[in-house]
Amino acid sequence: MATVAKAVPQPVVPRMAPREDLNPFRISQIQFDIAAEYLKLEPGLRQVLRTPKRVLEVSIPTKMDNGQLKVFTGFRVQHNIARGPAKGGIRYHPGVTLDEVKALASWMTWKTATVNIPYGGGKGGVICDPKRMSKGELERMTRRYTSEILPIIGPERDIPAPDVYTDAQTMAWIMDTYSMTVGYSSLGVVTGKPVSLGGSQGRNEATARGCLFATEEACKVKRIPLRGASVAIQGFGNAGSIAARLFAEKRAKIVAISDSRGGVYNPRGIDPLRAIRYKERSGTVVGMPGASRISNDDLLTLKCDILIPAALENVITLHNADQIKAKIVAEAANGTTTPHADEVLYRRGVFVLPDILANAGGVTVSYFEWAQDLQGYFWEENEVNTRLEKVMKRAFYDVYETMRKYHTHSRAAAYILAVGRVAEATLVRGLFP
Ligand code: GLU
Repeated sequence: MATVAKAVPQPVVPRMAPREDLNPFRISQIQFDIAAEYLKLEPGLRQVLRTPKRVLEVSIPTKMDNGQLKVFTGFRVQHNIARGPAKGGIRYHPGVTLDEVKALASWMTWKTATVNIPYGGGKGGVICDPKRMSKGELERMTRRYTSEILPIIGPERDIPAPDVYTDAQTMAWIMDTYSMTVGYSSLGVVTGKPVSLGGSQGRNEATARGCLFATEEACKVKRIPLRGASVAIQGFGNAGSIAARLFAEKRAKIVAISDSRGGVYNPRGIDPLRAIRYKERSGTVVGMPGASRISNDDLLTLKCDILIPAALENVITLHNADQIKAKIVAEAANGTTTPHADEVLYRRGVFVLPDILANAGGVTVSYFEWAQDLQGYFWEENEVNTRLEKVMKRAFYDVYETMRKYHTHSRAAAYILAVGRVAEATLVRGLFP
């Protein structure tokens, strides 16, 4: 396990960060290794659990609106299926790499195990810039990508869902392409679908709502009243914008929000609904009236009670971990904090709700959606939210007790819990052949 130098007082001028490996897949393996060490797993079992089971790379020829053909590269990775079908989102982003998708797939394995739902972990990604593509281009690319990964997906094999820059419409295209190919309507092949197409009530808000439920428990443990607590949110997509709304409904004060273009800050509070409307019109929260400008970097180190990173990986690193002033960090996005930064935050008493717990509400309601699809029987939103709350609370206290038992930080505890569950399933199944 890597160790870090003692936290130093906040420097006046930004110092050069020591070299830190930011490759997400290697980071995911370090996180796994820490838990494997605590659990004293056999070396052979470690090898099985730290590498993906299946990796598929596909070429996606797509007709663009100008008549030209463009070939995109996409991936689908199934990290582990010991406890059930692979499960995880599909990401459209110019920065997608195979190592990122491998890391995201493994985080799904540990996430589904942390909240104890009967899935393994998978993830998909396409290297593209969806902001510069028309709806028609996105639809054609999505349908061809679906057709290329079709041999390995399915309600019993691997169930995709939305992730960064994909949404319910993307899932509808995937469901349709899959269904037309197999010859019948398969609702359970993807989750996060529109409610009119076998989607679940509450799925769209589920990541943010799950994050709220976990944060409420963390606030109890840390004795911080959520009412009146100051909250800074980095990232204003599905998770970040809905978290802003739900936390504000609990009377927390949203002091800063940001997106890829920058952020805005108002110590007296920002109205999330106004911010959402402003972003719908201008494509960014930057420039919204009644708040001053703040950079993404400054938002992360703002003095606040709760920091919610809800964008991409590697935002809390050795570079800024000793300057984080929040008391609770709730990771609505995946892979936001590096292992070195974890050590610094732990030593400084910051309570981290790790991604595999904090944002597991999304996949939990995906599980509810899949269960409803397979049964052909749909639940009311109240029932979805009540069941989600139960799952998130139980997972929070499972992690919290593991933390106390092993005297370690919350991410290590969540991994000990999750890796332990997957290891147990693997051992009891035995090795084939
Ligand atoms: N993409 C989301 C995540 O990272 C949701 C995955 C799912 O619902 O399968 O957890």
